[in-house]
Amino acid sequence: MDLNKILNSLKNCPCGREHTFDTKVVEIGSGITAQTGKILAEAGFPKKVLVVSDRNEWKASEGILESLDAAGFSSKLLIYEDMRYAKVEQVHEVEALATDVDGIISVGTGSVNDICRVSSFRTGKKFCIFATAPSMDGFASDTAPIIENNFKNSWKAEQPMVIIADTKILAKAPVELKAAGFGDMIAKYIGLFDWRLANMLIDEYYCPAVAALTEEAIAKIVALADKVQGEDEEAAGAIMEALVLSGLAMKLALSSRPASGAEHVVSHYLECYKLARGVWPEFHGKKVGVATVLINRIYHNIADRVEEIDPIVEVTDWDAVKAAFSEEQIPELMKLNQPSIMDKVDPARLKAIWPEVRKLIKETLPTDAEMMDMMRKAGAVTEPEDVHVSPELLELGLRYHSYMRYRILLTRLMPMMQLDIMDYLK
Ligand SMILES: [Zn+2]
Ligand SMILES: [Zn+2]
Repeated sequence: MDLNKILNSLKNCPCGREHTFDTKVVEIGSGITAQTGKILAEAGFPKKVLVVSDRNEWKASEGILESLDAAGFSSKLLIYEDMRYAKVEQVHEVEALATDVDGIISVGTGSVNDICRVSSFRTGKKFCIFATAPSMDGFASDTAPIIENNFKNSWKAEQPMVIIADTKILAKAPVELKAAGFGDMIAKYIGLFDWRLANMLIDEYYCPAVAALTEEAIAKIVALADKVQGEDEEAAGAIMEALVLSGLAMKLALSSRPASGAEHVVSHYLECYKLARGVWPEFHGKKVGVATVLINRIYHNIADRVEEIDPIVEVTDWDAVKAAFSEEQIPELMKLNQPSIMDKVDPARLKAIWPEVRKLIKETLPTDAEMMDMMRKAGAVTEPEDVHVSPELLELGLRYHSYMRYRILLTRLMPMMQLDIMDYLK
């Protein structure tokens, strides 16, 4: 991946922000596992490293240790049995083992990367990801979701200096994971729309060039949707590249806006709900994909049916909102709403831009039929029950997710527009 080309294309960006990221090298290629040591040495990655993985991901990455040895690295190993949750206990474990190394290499996807990313940041070590499945967009991120006391919070983390992915390994990853990565990328349609909406409504920072980078990445994987389910190296590599690019876009915009909108917040609601009850919340991109289908459908239905709006100054029934969250979540929830993002919204301005908002939905979001078609082709699930979400839980998620962010989303504006989200689900 030509990172310099990306940075050069964003030089003197009209948005006024200087766009940079810390990632130096992204190598995605067929059979490059054996070159891992060489790639890291050339990138100037330190030679004393801690390698962290879990049993399945480590098995998939055969040859990596030999490659590190051959290039003169001295490696310490920490292999977890089955890493499903990124918990604070594991962050401490990795930190303790990292005291006498200069770099951490995470071999895996999802939770393993999250733990290592946070540990690297907190101990000041260089960080590398060797990715084994294109399952979510966090590879290039500089934050990570960590679970503490059954709650997931976003922690500061180290952006990887080097990202390596062997398309032979990516292609063999379970379809469920590849489809999850596809779902996490499809979500960017909504993310970009909600970002643009916030810009139109409250002048939130927006960069068309960063948005365009993400659009390009979406277009590329949509074109390969029907190859996701086979062991196709090109499709797996393209999803991986798109996911990395999406992570870089967040760093370029200094915001998660280019990568996540209402669908990610719905997924976050469902996840917190399940974590609070000790239930495995499913793979990130799988849930996000389902939420994307629903939000995309809702946005289209609103654009189709609501020709004019008469926004009012919002009156929130806080008792009803609080009832949708568990006791422990409420202090955090209220912090995100005092002050409320709605203080920045002028109802008259919302009314004035509404025709433009409708047009934006029609022009930038795929139709429901197109969305369902690409998800099915990619082998991604589309129904709430596929991610073990009951109609009752879904209703809570749709009605109350938007209070979990200090952020403009179209869903957050619905009470002001006097619309009930449940009327637009079908
Ligand atoms: Zn810009
Ligand atoms: Zn995501």
